[in-house]
Amino acid sequence: MTEEVHWQRLAAELDRIAASGRQVDFWLRDDDAAEPTVALDRLLSLVDRHGLAVVLAVPPALTGEALARRLDGLVHVSIAVHGWAHRNHAPPEEKKQELGAHRPRAAVLHELELGYDRLRTLFPVGFVPMLVPPWNRIDKSLLDALPEIGFTVLSVFGPEKPSPFKLANTHVDVMDWRGTRGCRDHASIVADIITRFRQVCGDVEERADQKGRTIGVLTHHLVHDEGVWAFLEKLFAATSRHPACRWLAGREITTAR
Ligand SMILES: [Zn+2]
Repeated sequence: MTEEVHWQRLAAELDRIAASGRQVDFWLRDDDAAEPTVALDRLLSLVDRHGLAVVLAVPPALTGEALARRLDGLVHVSIAVHGWAHRNHAPPEEKKQELGAHRPRAAVLHELELGYDRLRTLFPVGFVPMLVPPWNRIDKSLLDALPEIGFTVLSVFGPEKPSPFKLANTHVDVMDWRGTRGCRDHASIVADIITRFRQVCGDVEERADQKGRTIGVLTHHLVHDEGVWAFLEKLFAATSRHPACRWLAGREITTAR
């Protein structure tokens, strides 16, 4: 056995969590699925092999019957609303945003309503009332209106901050967006996961409604290189059957807690 030291560290952390009688809750959010592809097949077969669930964040304007047929009957796959058309409306000097303050609030909300209805119709079983803003950014002025549309959960990236709206964020991104545009160094992704263990296990007294309690892993199947696939294989192998870990399904995220 010559497993790398970071995987040994992860295993040791998990053993310690299990020994203290605790569990950590993982969930997997994969963004940008719009149609069936070889990469999507690979993701679906990977999670299936490990008995995991996945939440696919789907841009409503870009998807259709083909994806609905491909996912039909896959009970471990949930569908979240990924903006509307994944279109940037911010000027070039700003970070990309579809759900920003660059357009009238009513126009943005109208698109979100259309998106919600479209995905609920296309995916009547897998749909979950979760909004995943493209590029993980949304203007605060929109939050009030999300429950009227039907959303119960918002998912962006980073530790959950106090919010008027229930958050289920992702915390660990496997991609090196600014550098290689491939997989990040495996050791640093594992280090992020262990940091997140401390955040979720550290302060149990704090109100759970203000702080996320999950470890959200963020993936983008369309751009994964072999390094990402290898990382996910190892992560799932290390966690899917470990007594300290649970991998939550979309419905558990949007309904519980
Ligand atoms: Zn996206």
